[in-house]
Amino acid sequence: MENVLVIAAHPDDELLGVAGTIARHVADGDTVTCVVCSEGATTRYEASAVTELQACGRRAAAVLGAREVRFLGMRDQHLDALPILTVIQAIEAVVQEVAPTIVYSHHWGDVNRDHKVVNEAVMVACRPVGDAYPRSVLLFETPSSTEWSWPDPATAFVPQHFVDISTTIERKLEAMACYTTELRPAPHPRSLDALRSRAAYWGQIIGRAHAEAFVVARQVR
Ligand SMILES: [Zn+2]
Repeated sequence: MENVLVIAAHPDDELLGVAGTIARHVADGDTVTCVVCSEGATTRYEASAVTELQACGRRAAAVLGAREVRFLGMRDQHLDALPILTVIQAIEAVVQEVAPTIVYSHHWGDVNRDHKVVNEAVMVACRPVGDAYPRSVLLFETPSSTEWSWPDPATAFVPQHFVDISTTIERKLEAMACYTTELRPAPHPRSLDALRSRAAYWGQIIGRAHAEAFVVARQVR
């Protein structure tokens, strides 16, 4: 049985690239914990939206069967204004407490700065020291950020690890539908139609109906 930790920058980032995989883990009997570093509301909404976003996240986690979604409460779109050590220590504390075998987090090439900061902090927090570090660190794409980055091979999302989510795509969309303020109409990448067609695209790559794709940051066997 795997102990899975999903580390996201903003509310709904814990779903966009990985919700179908979370539901697969739960179906396999694995334990899934989600962490959302920022409150996701400072720059866009009234302060009361923080509470609502967290309620959305808890509903989505319940749909997927995740054990818990935890909110670290950092300021939205300001993670790069914090000393990186502050972000690392907050994430490291969760990693040490949960002791995951598999970690999913952001890709370094995203256009969103918070995503880059979380990626950097996760790589430090999950460094292979001692016996209990996560043996898999997998980086998900975040629709409406990963594909909007500049065309640089060094930051391109080139996945090598795929998860068949044909049996969980509906659960993924049901979970995403909980985030009513984050959804957009098609063809926006955060629309339900776009998420379904993106999963169908990755599915084509591996000969399945739907899939999610990941870059392998580290894999230890
Ligand atoms: Zn985000």
